[in-house]
Amino acid sequence: MSILSRSTLLSGLVLAVTAPLSPAAFYGDPPDATHPWAIHDENRPQPARVEPGTFSSQEQPGKPPSDAVILFDGTPATLKNWVSDKDPNQATKWEVKDGSLQCVPGSGYVRTKQEWGDCQLHVEWSAPSKVEGNSQGRGNSGIFPMGQVEVQVLDNFNNPTYADGFAGSVYGVNPPMANAVRAPGEWQVYDIVFRRPVFKEGKMVEDGYLTVFVNGVLTQDHTPLEGGGGHKARSKDHPFPEKGPLKLQDHGNPVRYRNIWYRPLPARASEGGDVSHMSAEATTAKRQSIAASLRADAAKEQGNGKMLKLMESLVYAPDAAALAESTKLSTAFLASVKDLSGDALEQKKGSIRQVHEALKYLSNYKILPAALPEESALGGIIEKAGWNAPKK
Ligand code: MG
Repeated sequence: MSILSRSTLLSGLVLAVTAPLSPAAFYGDPPDATHPWAIHDENRPQPARVEPGTFSSQEQPGKPPSDAVILFDGTPATLKNWVSDKDPNQATKWEVKDGSLQCVPGSGYVRTKQEWGDCQLHVEWSAPSKVEGNSQGRGNSGIFPMGQVEVQVLDNFNNPTYADGFAGSVYGVNPPMANAVRAPGEWQVYDIVFRRPVFKEGKMVEDGYLTVFVNGVLTQDHTPLEGGGGHKARSKDHPFPEKGPLKLQDHGNPVRYRNIWYRPLPARASEGGDVSHMSAEATTAKRQSIAASLRADAAKEQGNGKMLKLMESLVYAPDAAALAESTKLSTAFLASVKDLSGDALEQKKGSIRQVHEALKYLSNYKILPAALPEESALGGIIEKAGWNAPKK
């Protein structure tokens, strides 16, 4: 949106009285030691567009979002994404039946050919409608992101068991916050957010985590992996590989699966990702790179465009040359408007206010070594013209 259309849009709002003319820059609190972007920073990259999918019903699986990697969609063709875990060179003996991938008891775990790390994972499963066994023996399977840690799959409908082995548990680590499974034979929907532990030089700098929704009910809220758990075993933290396959468990029950897909997730700040609260080192590097890009843009412009880009670059990183040139340009701008009056002055209203806002921002946030005299001079012109007076 252009500066003009934005201010036109805002003109009918109360906000317009206080909003600067160019919300694109010199607007929210500036970057700091661990945040490379300003608040509401338009230099921050736009989120990628993803077409959302649809929800599943008992009758049919929903449509995955547009950027999902499909692992099983009910077709025999997607069975090719899976192999035997016992011997990954062999096809799995699990079967595609009526659009679902069904465990063949005794054939062993199934795993994906593809390997990846952190992800949003969607899996739907259904326990046999003919109820057999109890506790861990009824409708048991499991979902292992990277093959490392089990999100339990179990028919817990009227079937108690040890709490850390319930459906929606991180098996052997943490029980689900609720038992939200449907009756056996019905489709159950798991939405999982998986994060590997982050290790640097042999030391864990951030835990791995699992967040799990069972049929839309939160059962794991960013639960630390604590090594990943296991049967009877309390695991210790350990580095995970960079990537690994998704595995589904053969626990002797013919559990069915459908609509399996994932979306890879970007690196967290602890791994050097460009998100949220970053390290001081990564923040400095990012601020330098944004400043350099703005200075490259400034080099293609003249006059106020150049001045404002150079001033904006100072918000991210100091630079003596950018400071000197933008100061010189602001002096020249003031000289070009200070003696105007009437219509000629009115025509410059937008740019005078814009430059004044920028200078005010830079001095308010102590981005300049000292406030420039141009700031108060332009402020005086605005005051005298009555441009700051409340609208009647
Ligand atoms: Mg299991």
